[in-house]
Amino acid sequence: MSTLDAFLARTRVAYFSMEIALRAEMHTYSGGLGVLAGDTARSCADLRLPVVFVTLASHEGYLRQEIAADGSQIDHPDPWRVADWATPLDAMVGVAVEGRTVWIRPWLYRLAAADGYEIPVLLLDTRLEHNDPRDRGLTDRLYGGDDAYRLGQEIVLGIGGERLLRALGFEVGIYHLNEGHAALLTAALLKRHPHPLEVPAEGQLRYDTEWVREHCVFTTHTPVEAGHDRFDYAMAMRLLGDFLPEDQLKPLAGEDRLNMTRLALNLSGYVNGVAERHAETARKMFPGYVVRAITNGVHAHSWVHPAFANLFQSLAADWAHEPEELVRADQLTDTELWSAHDAAKQDLIDTVARLGGVKLRMDLPILAFARRITGYKRPDLLFSDLARLRALNARHPFQLVIAGKAHPHDEPGKALVHALHAHLRELAGEIPGAFLPDYGLDLARVMVAGADVWLNTPQPPLEASGTSGMKAALNGVLNLSVLDGWWWEGWIEDVTGWGIGASGPASDHANELYDTLEHKVLPRYYQDRARWLGMMRASISKTAPRFNSQRMMRRYAAEAYLR
Ligand SMILES: *Cc1c(COP(=O)(O)O)cnc(C)c1O
Repeated sequence: MSTLDAFLARTRVAYFSMEIALRAEMHTYSGGLGVLAGDTARSCADLRLPVVFVTLASHEGYLRQEIAADGSQIDHPDPWRVADWATPLDAMVGVAVEGRTVWIRPWLYRLAAADGYEIPVLLLDTRLEHNDPRDRGLTDRLYGGDDAYRLGQEIVLGIGGERLLRALGFEVGIYHLNEGHAALLTAALLKRHPHPLEVPAEGQLRYDTEWVREHCVFTTHTPVEAGHDRFDYAMAMRLLGDFLPEDQLKPLAGEDRLNMTRLALNLSGYVNGVAERHAETARKMFPGYVVRAITNGVHAHSWVHPAFANLFQSLAADWAHEPEELVRADQLTDTELWSAHDAAKQDLIDTVARLGGVKLRMDLPILAFARRITGYKRPDLLFSDLARLRALNARHPFQLVIAGKAHPHDEPGKALVHALHAHLRELAGEIPGAFLPDYGLDLARVMVAGADVWLNTPQPPLEASGTSGMKAALNGVLNLSVLDGWWWEGWIEDVTGWGIGASGPASDHANELYDTLEHKVLPRYYQDRARWLGMMRASISKTAPRFNSQRMMRRYAAEAYLR
């Protein structure tokens, strides 16, 4: 327990997240939200911010994606052994779920910065023999099961997490909720703080909502309505029991359904969206709330290819700690840039050969698309008009690399996985391409560095931020993306990349995408390599200094934690 003592003495902020991408072998994440939480933690360690992270053990992971011969997604559990990476702590707390006591034990993972400085991550575990067999699996499957399973997990995370921090002796001044999944934490805090002045009327205790608001920070991540957790009150009250009476919960969490976003909004004194544009959208979705914007960033040191890391080292020894120093990337020579890019591209080509069985070429540009496969991200936009795509390729040949998982319950998303395979197969003789299975941290690292063009075509305004384009830019990969999320801020036309949808309706995006490829992107790659290299330089020097998680966490610390 001695190292925990050091953590206890210095920790002041608790960051709650349903998922966190700590390392590829730990299957405690599904996608962007978890990768952001992981980059947040890595920057906290770099900057020595006094933060403890709280998440679930997720023994069975999220989803291991297998692709069947016909191109459809087959879902598998993705188990991992917590004991291989974390140590159990000698503490246990109970929470009530459906009238039963569910015991929770934490594991401690020590996340170390490059200089060895460590911050604590607590992985909550209910796989204990003390528990009813029904409850042992609550921390098994990330985003698995039905609504009751999800709410059970949120009780463990929000209410159990708060109790555990207290039981272990953490003195927390600020609680940061990464998305609404942890919103029950605010209710747990409420219960600890009866209103100092009001006398309980008719046996009802009133709570000090102001105290809770002063101590909670809420980051909302999704402008998609369906992305917000909402639970049927009858089911929720069955699980929550007498935790908080329904008539006290409803004014805070919504009259019709228990809405976790509402609950977090009402009980957090600092609320933010994850890009300027997303904050605007969130203000429209939730009128009456002050929603600020702290644009996401990525942990530069984790996402840069070793060949570029070497170049950066020669420019500014401190770049990993101060990515602002990468403004100096303007000084990289054409030869330096191109040979680093060659190394990254060769790694991607090797990976495509290994995982996709397709041989790609160094001398043709690689267009890459990788993210969660779901309707609003429109992964099939590029394939809207195959004849046009073939004509483009006939003039200026290119190659495609695609990856991404659909959530096991997202049938339209799964249909898209299948459709993407069908398109690639149809084009196979002409446009070399591959769909790489089981997108995760390791694959992302290779793809964001080795592509020539990073493609993103969501339906605006539904992309809250997006972060993979930031990782690409850091490696001199040029973004070709719909103007939404972070790209509104990062986009400088013909300098850092190309934007789609500056004007005109979303229904024109496919046309604009083809036009941009035909008239701007591909001719520049083939006919004006000097300007292409200039854009690679600008992509690094104008993007990396801004869209990194050191800057992001300095802003959270200054504006949200120290407010
Ligand atoms: C960065 C990353 C994401 C998020 O990228 P988006 O651009 O938001 O889609 C998702 N999954 C993995 C594995 C990542 O590395």
